[in-house]
Amino acid sequence: MPRTKKPKFQTLTGMHDILPDQQCYFYDIYKKVKSIADFYKFGEITTPIIEDADLFSRGVGLSTDIVKKQMYIFRTKGGEWVSLRPEGTAPVARAYIEHGMHTLPQPVKLWYFGPFFRYEKPQAGRYRQFWQFGFEIIGEASPVVDAQIIQIFYHIFKDLKFQDLLIEVNSIGDRQCRPYYKRLLVNYLKSHQNSLCPDCRRRIKENPLRILDCKDPRCQSIAASAPQIINHLCKECHDHFKEVLEYLDDLDLPYHLNPYLVRGLDYYTRTVFEIFASEEKNDQEDSEGFVSKNALAGGGRYDGLIKLLGGKDTPACGAAAGIERIIEAMKHRKIKPPYPQKPKIFLAQLGKKAKRESLKLIEKFREAKIPVASALNKDSLKAQLKLADRFGVKYTLILGQQEAMEGKILIRDMTTGRQRITNIKSVVREMKKMIKL
Ligand code: AMP
Repeated sequence: MPRTKKPKFQTLTGMHDILPDQQCYFYDIYKKVKSIADFYKFGEITTPIIEDADLFSRGVGLSTDIVKKQMYIFRTKGGEWVSLRPEGTAPVARAYIEHGMHTLPQPVKLWYFGPFFRYEKPQAGRYRQFWQFGFEIIGEASPVVDAQIIQIFYHIFKDLKFQDLLIEVNSIGDRQCRPYYKRLLVNYLKSHQNSLCPDCRRRIKENPLRILDCKDPRCQSIAASAPQIINHLCKECHDHFKEVLEYLDDLDLPYHLNPYLVRGLDYYTRTVFEIFASEEKNDQEDSEGFVSKNALAGGGRYDGLIKLLGGKDTPACGAAAGIERIIEAMKHRKIKPPYPQKPKIFLAQLGKKAKRESLKLIEKFREAKIPVASALNKDSLKAQLKLADRFGVKYTLILGQQEAMEGKILIRDMTTGRQRITNIKSVVREMKKMIKL
């Protein structure tokens, strides 16, 4: 929209309005996600936007970027520390425990769709308020569930008409084998610490696995020769991962094993994955000039989370996708969501009585589910016909003062310019036939 002067109030950095012409993308994505969720029998869950800040520091992990740098955290008047939710899995796990869902038949399958908040450095594909949808399967340890979550996300993107999808997978082990691997990795990294970026020098102590997916080329070249966790998995993790890959093979999904994929959240165990739309522009340069690919979705297994949050030891697996990223990728590929039904009829009116009749008539068209455009604020026929042209309607109904008194109305074929008169009472029925609804 044209603007002359910079307005006094604007959206905050990293936040954005979703204007009417963008809503169709959201509806389209919601509709397709919901249809897959319904088919696979996931129940929709909506958790509050604000939670106890501890839920995330404990669940997501104190040493993660999300908790350390990106949480919108504040103290309420009552003195509680609360946070705008930065992600959806910890709240869903909290709800599972709080509502005693372990007593339901397992696994419990939940999905969500809503806004999330991270105080990120603003850059392409990264917002401070962004939307995600996510799927969680809680209470099942079998690797088939990992494969099913990957399959579900893959097919959502397929339904959204993405052709060029790529899945990256890895296993990051569990409580048994990860500590041993971490020690190996830390020893290796310590011998190279002077060549790491400042952030990663700090990460050696706090979160060494994250160094493997640092975007700084200095760290990437050190990570390239680091020991790989895939070669140090315990037997259980190894067998689990092998089975996941076998399922992916059976499903013919285009996956690639990425030994550097670790994900940014502490709660993950074993399988982790990300989905990309491959070709392109999806490569984003961040503020320091490092090129990274923006994932459309990411997730994995989180067998320790429910217990960590005070529930029973419960295996689980899930993933989330970023709606803004999906929309940007759709636009880049010129994938257009279906627009709301376009009107095929325009109703023009002249005079006070006609205006009154028009209000009633429009409602009759709505009841008959026939989309009709009008401009009751306009009085000139010329202006209304111009609008009808702009809508590209096939017919314009003209209700003049005289017609309104006689219970009649004109039907004008916009292609031929031909007009005929009919009764107001029967016009909805006639139009229904003419536009073949
Ligand atoms: P995560 O919760 O970090 O595993 O992210 C899951 C997905 O959410 C990512 O693959 C992105 O598509 C999306 N996402 C995460 N952070 C942001 C952000 N700051 N802005 C936009 N999308 C995001």
